[in-house]
Amino acid sequence: MTPEEFRTFGYQIVDWIADYRRRVAEYPVMSTVEPGETRAKLPAAPPDAAESFTAILEDMDRIILPGLSHWNHPSFFAYFPANSSLASVLGDYLSSGLGVLGLNWQASPALTELEEVVTDWMRQMLGLSENWNGVIQDTASTSTLVALLCAREWATDHGQTRGGLQAETAPLVIYTSTQSHSSVEKAALLGGFGRDNVRAIETDETYAMRADLLEQTVLNDLRHGRKPCAVVATIGTTATTAIDPLAAIAALTRQHNIWLHVDTAMAGSAMILPECRWMWQGIEAADSLVLNPHKWLGAVFDNSLFYVRNPQHLIRVMSTNPSYLQTSADAQVKNFRDWGIPLGRRFRALKLWCLIREQGLSGLQKRLRRDLANTQWLAKEVDAAPHWERLAPVPLQTVCVRHTPPGLSGDTLDQHTLAWVGRLNQSGAAYLTPAKLAGRWMVRVSIGAEPTELAHVQTLWERMKHEAEHF
Ligand SMILES: *Cc1c(COP(=O)(O)O)cnc(C)c1O
Repeated sequence: MTPEEFRTFGYQIVDWIADYRRRVAEYPVMSTVEPGETRAKLPAAPPDAAESFTAILEDMDRIILPGLSHWNHPSFFAYFPANSSLASVLGDYLSSGLGVLGLNWQASPALTELEEVVTDWMRQMLGLSENWNGVIQDTASTSTLVALLCAREWATDHGQTRGGLQAETAPLVIYTSTQSHSSVEKAALLGGFGRDNVRAIETDETYAMRADLLEQTVLNDLRHGRKPCAVVATIGTTATTAIDPLAAIAALTRQHNIWLHVDTAMAGSAMILPECRWMWQGIEAADSLVLNPHKWLGAVFDNSLFYVRNPQHLIRVMSTNPSYLQTSADAQVKNFRDWGIPLGRRFRALKLWCLIREQGLSGLQKRLRRDLANTQWLAKEVDAAPHWERLAPVPLQTVCVRHTPPGLSGDTLDQHTLAWVGRLNQSGAAYLTPAKLAGRWMVRVSIGAEPTELAHVQTLWERMKHEAEHF
């Protein structure tokens, strides 16, 4: 494709995306295609002859769109908000269009320096002290893996430069809560700690980690000659947005020199609101933290911020520094390849830079406050409605609910829950995700898609009552 052809089709694609966003509310939110249906419409073998770009765009409409659930739909209440603000979409275009890679500073100096600037802007927006240094990773899953690798090397005084974990005499133990994200367990397993050394600490009635049980477990491991290595605390758990007691946990990790990683992938965006910062009181005593601007904040996926308090340690764990990557500037610059796992680095900072500049901090704050208020509206409605239960506190943008008509309990109640949410999702009017809480199905209403206004939440509540109460 020549630059002139790119101009032609590029304008078409911008129009296509603009039309899609303008009309997105007309589509059924959740795709109802059957498994294999999309694949069956596509040729099994690649084309030998070149095709026109027009044919590709036609297939987008005909084949791809019907096979999508629409995350930027005003009635998307599933999983978590993953907003792709259009300003950030343009940042993503710029990144792809430039096609540069940040293997080291010299390979594209502005790529590194813009990343330094936007991660520091975000640090200030979140109210974090200057002790934190940030880097953009792809996902929270990667950030948490990197954190646990840092913790492993902290606890073993860089055992990887000797015999690694295989040479350790005491097993290293990781602590998290029963409500933490599956990426924590995955990171612990990939980090080589072994399932036997991952402790899932029970939670209290708000689904927050019990600091007293954490302390007992740590002390018990110490008595048995094991080495407490890291605690992963969550601010805003996936099921209910529960808030682990960070200050109490940090007191313990400080006392025993345990690495404290804070997973606030979803909720971290809310820390741009000063009134929300009580939720992570104690954060300054943590060693690392992850939050995903690619969720509620509005940066196009992938955009996960990883902050550490001791970048020298991170660099020592991650750096390899072969001769072909060394440059004379190395002593004066950051080489972000030493801040994570991949060598190649996209110009991801552009997505965040465009978002922050086009919205301003005040614009982002206004939207998140709107979402918090809409969520409180729904929580109050649920509380006031007969035979509806709200299952957890609502500090953020998720309401966990169950419709409990008289006479239903246990498995029949589970069947009722899955049935009404299934009907609602299949109708195309809204998209909600059920999840298990304390062994029973419930429905999460996750509010905060960029186009979602109070009227959409009100309509959703009417539909929920309709599907659950009249069938
Ligand atoms: C979404 C989420 C994750 C996983 O995020 P990815 O970026 O998809 O890896 C981890 N932890 C929490 C608390 C989350 O909300």
